[in-house]
Amino acid sequence: MTNLVPPHGGRLLPLLVSGDERDEAFSEAKTLPPVKLNSREVSDLIMLAIGAFSPLDGFMRNEDYQRVVKEMRLSNNLLWPIPVTLSVSEDEADKIKEGDRIALLNPGENEVMASMLVEEKYSCDKHREALKVFGTDDMGHPGVKSIYEQGEVYLGGPTKVFNEDDYPQRFAEFARPAETRAIFADKGWATIAAFQTRNPMHRSHEYLTKIALEVCDGLFIHPIVGRLKAGDTPAEVRMECYRALLNNYYPKDRVVLKVYPMEMRYAGPREAILHAIIRQNFGCSHLIVGRDHAGIGTYYGPFDAHRIFDELSLGDLYIQPMKLDTTFWCSRCGAMVSSKTCPHGDEDHLLISGTKLREMLTRGERPPEQFSRKEVVDILVKYYQSEAGSLR
Ligand SMILES: [Zn+2]
Repeated sequence: MTNLVPPHGGRLLPLLVSGDERDEAFSEAKTLPPVKLNSREVSDLIMLAIGAFSPLDGFMRNEDYQRVVKEMRLSNNLLWPIPVTLSVSEDEADKIKEGDRIALLNPGENEVMASMLVEEKYSCDKHREALKVFGTDDMGHPGVKSIYEQGEVYLGGPTKVFNEDDYPQRFAEFARPAETRAIFADKGWATIAAFQTRNPMHRSHEYLTKIALEVCDGLFIHPIVGRLKAGDTPAEVRMECYRALLNNYYPKDRVVLKVYPMEMRYAGPREAILHAIIRQNFGCSHLIVGRDHAGIGTYYGPFDAHRIFDELSLGDLYIQPMKLDTTFWCSRCGAMVSSKTCPHGDEDHLLISGTKLREMLTRGERPPEQFSRKEVVDILVKYYQSEAGSLR
C-alpha cells in the first residue's frame, strides 16, 4: 500500500520494452523503413519510454492532437496541455501508409531507438498550434520556431521503445516514475513537493523549496536535462551546483534529486500543467509553480501559470500547485522574503537578473552570499571562466 497520488489516467504506462519482446521488436525494427527523429522528439520518446508521459501510448493521433491544441484534453477527456507529436516532411510522408510499421532513429548516430505502428497520418496546422499552445505566432519564441522548423505531416500510433539514449549513462540521477514512487513509498512519504528547474539554484530557489519542506513530507528536486536554449547553463554544471547545495544546506533524508530528459518548450502556463502531470506520474502531490513558470521573454504574464490551474475541473489533477512568487534577500528584514512578506522597497532588495549574473560570473566576479551560496558560486565561476563557459 502506498499513500502516493495515482499516476495521471490511473496507471503508469512505460513504453520501454524488455526481454523477448524487446529482442523480437528490435530485430524487426532493423528491417523497417526508418524515420529520423529531431532532438525534441527524442526527448519526448524517452519521456514515453520511462512512463513520465503516462497514459500516452505513443506519439499522438489526430483526434488527441486536435483536442489537445483546442481545449487541453485527450480524446478520452483526460487533461493534456501540449501536443506530443512526431513530424515528417511531405516527401517522407508520401512513402508511408497508414498501417505501416516504421523504425524511429536517433538523429546523431542513426541508431534504432523505437518502432511504431503508423495508425494515422495527418497534416498539422502550425499557425493554430502555435497560437493555441504558446499564445503567440512569433518566430522569436523558441517553441514556436521549433514547430515551424519541423515537418508538415504528423504520424501517430502505438510505440515501442528500445533504449533511453545515453541518459542513464550521463546522469547518475536519471530515474523513472516507478523508481521514484518506490523511493517515496519506502520513505513513508505521502506529500511530496516537486521543484522544476532549468537553472542553477540560488538562494531564491532554495527558499522556495524550503517553504515546501516546511509543509510537505519530502522535497523532490527535479531538473530538466534535455537540450536547452543557447545561453542556459549546461545540465552537467547545474547538477554539480544542485549536489553542492543539497550536501551543505538540506537535511539529507528529506530531499530526493533526480533528473528527467524532456526539452523545455517555454510554453508558460500550458507547460506548467504539463510539468504538473509529469510530477504526478513521478509520485508527487505538489508542484512549486513560481513566477512566470516555464515562460520566456515577455510572452506571458507573471502569474498566468498560476491562474491556469484555477480553470481546471475537479478531478483533472491529483497534484496541487504551490503558487509562489519570486523571492529575494531584503537587507532591512535581514532575511529571504517575497512581496507578500516584506514591506520594504527595491532599494533594500538584492535583485540580479540572469543576464547580469552571467556577465558577472564571466568576469570572475562573485555575487553576494545573500544571492547565491558560495559552493554554488565556486562551480559557476569555474565554469564561466573556462573556455567552454566563456564561449556561451
Ligand atoms: Zn524587507
